[in-house]
Amino acid sequence: MLKRTNTCGQLRLEDAGKKVTLAGWVHSYRDHGNLVFIDLRDREGLTQLVFNPETQPEVHKLARTVRCEWVIAAQGIVQPRSKGMENPKLPTGQIEVSVQQLEILNVSKTPPFEFDSAEKTNEELRLANRYIDLRRPEMQQKLHTRHRVTKLVRDYFDQLGFWEIETPILAKSTPEGARDFLVPSRLHPNCFYALPQSPQLFKQILMVSSIDKYFQIVRCFRDEDPRADRQAEFTQIDVEMSFVDTNDVIGVHENLIAKIWKQILNVDVKTPMRRMSYKEAIDCYGTDRPDLRFDMKLKDITDVARQSTFKVFTAAIEKGGIVKGLCAPAGEKYSRSDIEKTLAGFVAEYGAKGLAWSKVVARGTSHGPRATGHEPRTTSLTLVGGVAKFFNGELQQQIIERFDAKDGNLLLFVADNERVTNKALAPLRCKLAKDLLLYDQKNFEFVWIVDFPLFEWNEDENRYDSLHHPFTAADEQSIDKLAPLENHSQTAPLESRFLTGQKGQSLTGLDSDPANIRSQAYDIVVNGAEIGGGSIRIHNPKIQQKVFELLKIPEKQVQQQFGFFLKALEYGAPPHGGIALGLDRMIMLLTSTENIRDVIAFPKTQRGQCLLTDAPSEVDRKQLDELNLRAQRHAHAVERKNRGQKTEDRLTSDF
Ligand code: ASP
Repeated sequence: MLKRTNTCGQLRLEDAGKKVTLAGWVHSYRDHGNLVFIDLRDREGLTQLVFNPETQPEVHKLARTVRCEWVIAAQGIVQPRSKGMENPKLPTGQIEVSVQQLEILNVSKTPPFEFDSAEKTNEELRLANRYIDLRRPEMQQKLHTRHRVTKLVRDYFDQLGFWEIETPILAKSTPEGARDFLVPSRLHPNCFYALPQSPQLFKQILMVSSIDKYFQIVRCFRDEDPRADRQAEFTQIDVEMSFVDTNDVIGVHENLIAKIWKQILNVDVKTPMRRMSYKEAIDCYGTDRPDLRFDMKLKDITDVARQSTFKVFTAAIEKGGIVKGLCAPAGEKYSRSDIEKTLAGFVAEYGAKGLAWSKVVARGTSHGPRATGHEPRTTSLTLVGGVAKFFNGELQQQIIERFDAKDGNLLLFVADNERVTNKALAPLRCKLAKDLLLYDQKNFEFVWIVDFPLFEWNEDENRYDSLHHPFTAADEQSIDKLAPLENHSQTAPLESRFLTGQKGQSLTGLDSDPANIRSQAYDIVVNGAEIGGGSIRIHNPKIQQKVFELLKIPEKQVQQQFGFFLKALEYGAPPHGGIALGLDRMIMLLTSTENIRDVIAFPKTQRGQCLLTDAPSEVDRKQLDELNLRAQRHAHAVERKNRGQKTEDRLTSDF
């Protein structure tokens, strides 16, 4: 076999005259009668090969037989391309290799899709033929970026003294709030491993083991309902640190992010990054994942709407709801039917029963009422259309002022309970900003969301849920406020101080008003996407147990699921905290793709299938027997047989 001397992206004008050997795939092929040209491709680029019938008749003849995607090796002399034939778009565009020897290393069937039209090709075809799809430079660039980021992450943490430690994949269920993937155990019939939703408990136990600084680029598994931007199997940059507070964890990670953005995109990310309380995020943006590339804050107008004559508003308020809205510089962009059909339809998808609107116009303009000439500056604006007629002049002015509205603005309102109102307005805000081109797509606005509530009320189950996970520590101030520490003062016996609470965290505080306790959790958000989250943890077993109690997890279940962990906390757990950053999401942002499958070499479809290997697939009966399992349809067949029925279930014979 001809051994290559260079890659297809390497040769330049200064290499002219050198004898080289290249190997790769035939990207394109042009037969000009006398000369044959082949663009040879490998991971590093393209180089033009030229075959001349006069100087190398045999080689030229062989070259005429090759086809796209065949694998060849070619030896020849680097020469400058003839005048006018240079390709300034290619790094190797000044030269070509005049081939003297050609070896066909392998042939290829005609690929099922063409590179150039791959983006328009049905994605399933690309996934089923992933080996072809991954040959495309666009895909390789994404994989390369991913490699560069993981390398950078490892170097960064190594320099700071973190150790990368692997944690088990065959594990026990961890409560990140999703369904587990289960793996049956052959050696322990009727017992199952769970694939980790995250290494949460292991990394905390590593802190108890005095590992101090841990990180891992780790695969996590969550059996969630299909969503376009999620994969059941995804990768996290998982971190845990001892003797730290929120600022320490945030500091280490914002510097990491700034480093990644600088090295990959040459973008300067300002640190320290902005921080925003959960409350401000919900009030102003309707979500704890605000896109801060544009302003357009949501405003609560419940107090003004209460005085209007619009029944929809007043009825919603009477039921304990709110009226909130936003003000968009929409100009003439949306017609009445756009608003009432398209935009109202959009918010309906998020549960809003309607979308009220009105336009802001200046009196005396062609589209506004006539000016009297005596209005003060603010009253030269007025509301027109939609719900305007239900608001008297005074109330209209209050709304205009609240939104700091301008001529040509469009006001949109939703009235419902707080949850639905925010849930509908937050995506509407983003949709309008996108439609109206209110931001630069290439901009990145990072923000840490902090001061989360520790718990949220679960209506359906009539109990509290953890907003993050149950290992998150409460904010010390909010607990202190709720329960004075008379029983846990510095004068109390050491034992009672430490076993009852954690540095001032009294257990009664947790009980007295769970809804108002804030946590020491933090999420990092960029352009409306959460790319990571974590918290300072509870390191006191008594408090941890108390939290399980508040979450109404039965004692038996606590012992079964977390007994080992509570026990570990009893052996000198240091104060600790950590975070996990979503690697896939981060690569999506860095490579400007909205398709998570583009940044994973072998992804699954939204229905969790691998179209390349056809997983998940049925297994044969022998494997099930070994695992002491019965597939349901087989079980049904056995049941029927046992009842003396004849079964003709064709499927059961597969087992
Ligand atoms: N285990 C958490 C998660 O996967 C992250 C953390 O709290 O460190 O979301």
